[in-house]
Amino acid sequence: MVFVEELKCLKCGRKHAPTKGLYTCKKCGGKLEILYDYDAIAEKINKKELAKRRAGVWKYFELLPVASRKNIVTLDEGGMPLLEAKNLARELGMRQLLLKDETKNPTASFKDRPMSVGLSKAVEFGARKVVTASSGNAAIALAAYAAKAGIECHAFVPAGAAESKLAQLSMYGAHVVQVASKGVGDSTYEFMRASWKKFRWHPIPSCGAFNPYQPEGSKTMSYEICEQLGWRVPDWVVVPVGAGTLLSGNAKGYFEFEQLGLVEGVPHLAAVQAEGCAPLVKAFKHGTPPYEIPTWPNPNTVAGGLVDPYPWDADTAIPAIERSKGAVQAVSDAEILEAEKLLAKSEGIFAEPSGAAGLAGLRKLLDAGIVDRSEVVVVEVTGGGLKDVGTAMKLAEEPVVIEPKLEQLKKLIK
Ligand SMILES: *Cc1c(COP(=O)(O)O)cnc(C)c1O
Repeated sequence: MVFVEELKCLKCGRKHAPTKGLYTCKKCGGKLEILYDYDAIAEKINKKELAKRRAGVWKYFELLPVASRKNIVTLDEGGMPLLEAKNLARELGMRQLLLKDETKNPTASFKDRPMSVGLSKAVEFGARKVVTASSGNAAIALAAYAAKAGIECHAFVPAGAAESKLAQLSMYGAHVVQVASKGVGDSTYEFMRASWKKFRWHPIPSCGAFNPYQPEGSKTMSYEICEQLGWRVPDWVVVPVGAGTLLSGNAKGYFEFEQLGLVEGVPHLAAVQAEGCAPLVKAFKHGTPPYEIPTWPNPNTVAGGLVDPYPWDADTAIPAIERSKGAVQAVSDAEILEAEKLLAKSEGIFAEPSGAAGLAGLRKLLDAGIVDRSEVVVVEVTGGGLKDVGTAMKLAEEPVVIEPKLEQLKKLIK
């Protein structure tokens, strides 16, 4: 790890050298934060150098925790468009609205960014088998990269995960085990932790609490947004939130670019959760310390990608929202589905419910006057609509049926 100096435990403060197979604090099991040598990185990376490189996650190699390029496992993730949403902006009365369209990633969600990094790091550690706990997209992404690397992938998924996601997961050859919910806690995570210790599988869930490497991949979304805006930061970035990992990674990306002197300031970060599973929003509002957040009982929302009964990365996400002078917002399933339709109809982007939740949240933040209509706003569209075909089929209108006669068509279009 050329530019990684050490890993610091966020719970007990102990610092660790970047040794092989290190996933959590050796002393207390706490979450590790990766600390880089930014002075050394600044000698390698500047605006001119970055402009020369091809877009994608690995463009930012020096800011990622993989030591050797030969260990990179890639499907050409990242480098996603930042689309000007003129129709939506007009409809919402906004000056400028931009959509970071993550639906075009190799497995159709942003999770390809962190999982490319997480799996590459596991390869560097010499892993033969990896394990994850996920409601869908993280496991799907991990399975795809594991397939590419020829590594065995085990996935624990909750009951009720979208059928089309389970199909995609199984297509990549993962060993999928569905674990029934106990109503409290998160049984998929308990299984992941047990098998990691017992069988020595390498844990790659999509949260930093059990794998500090993969969230670093999500920093690259922020780097790209800064570059796409001509080395400026937007006023707001709206992020759909489950465990809080994506938001934590995004935040670190902006703070790093500021520290490297590549941009000035950081955007306000807005976290959007579904009303049926909103532990982080609730904790933020009540000022609950991250490690004391209770698990959300019986989560229930159409946004399956946001179902994390316990927000594992609240300890980094909540301070990041505070530091950015950001906001939190919960949205109902009806609001999410409305946003899914609106995104497709007005901007041509087909998102899954979790991917559309950011837009639903933005509408409420605008109405509440928290986000001003004159500000530059980026909404992250994190996952594609074909991932959750079942929900789209319920939203879709039935086609009109006619006889193959022109008169019938004429009558119809009148
Ligand atoms: C995982 C996921 C999120 C939320 O990410 P967290 O890191 O769990 O907060 C948002 N949208 C989609 C589509 C996802 O798959």
